[in-house]
Amino acid sequence: MAEATDAPKAGCLVDLKGQTALVTGASRGIGRAIALKLAACGARVVGVARTLEALEATREAVVAAGGEFEGFAADVSRAEDVKRVVEAVEEKHQKIQILVNNAGITKDGLLLRMEDDAWDRVVDVNLKGTFLWCRAVGAVMMRGRYGRIVNVGSVSGIRGNPGQANYSASKAGVIGFSQTVARELASRGITVNVVAPGFITTDMTDVLPEKIKAEVKERVPLRRLGAPEDVAEVVAFLCGPATSYVTGQVVAVDGGMTV
Ligand code: NAP
Repeated sequence: MAEATDAPKAGCLVDLKGQTALVTGASRGIGRAIALKLAACGARVVGVARTLEALEATREAVVAAGGEFEGFAADVSRAEDVKRVVEAVEEKHQKIQILVNNAGITKDGLLLRMEDDAWDRVVDVNLKGTFLWCRAVGAVMMRGRYGRIVNVGSVSGIRGNPGQANYSASKAGVIGFSQTVARELASRGITVNVVAPGFITTDMTDVLPEKIKAEVKERVPLRRLGAPEDVAEVVAFLCGPATSYVTGQVVAVDGGMTV
């Protein structure tokens, strides 16, 4: 299926020179596109995934494009991992101006057949992970009196999606959490927003049958599935200095699916 031909190419709306950006789930998909975009806008990017090997392709791509990238292996849902990474980054760069909580997983199944573990793991990675990084990096941003936090949600967290009770709950949780944190951190010049992708072509959606993808495409007013770059573009915009009066918002990047 030919997809995403209108997806954004290189180019930058925002100037992030001199800033440090921490991106979770930077090894592939949307997270890799965000890492590349923020680096192209001038940020030095710290990328997180479960293994360093998984981050190597992102590091190579960022460096090949003239950017700066450092990878850290961490499980986003483990407080000790988060502490280790944030302390190391703060020690090296003093400030962290940008945090993108992008790491996420699905473990789909209908409610009546959903195992406890599928619920726990999805909520741990998607929601608790977002909380842990916001708490740790939020403290660094408070000290620096500046910050841009973008949490990656999902249209499933806005409208729900059969087979994704755990995932939808975690992503709806990310919205409520982000709105509260936006209010708590606003007085220190820190904004917190959610970008909610629709159907984006990545490993996460690759597993779905072509028939389902074709059906989804029919429901998208812009008549194409999204590319990771579509999401990265909006994330970068919200990470820029100019969006200082936008906080607690949910921006859907979904081709109009939720209209
Ligand atoms: P993906 O291709 O499956 O990539 C997921 C990323 O998260 C990988 O970098 C993975 O790293 C990382 N990750 C997963 N569990 C982790 C953990 N415990 N600790 C650290 N890193 C972990 O997914 P994607 O499609 O790019 O999705 C990115 C985000 O967008 C997710 O939050 C997802 O829910 C959201 N989203 C995606 C879509 C879509 O259509 N694709 C739609 C709505 C929302 P490793 O596996 O290398 O460790």
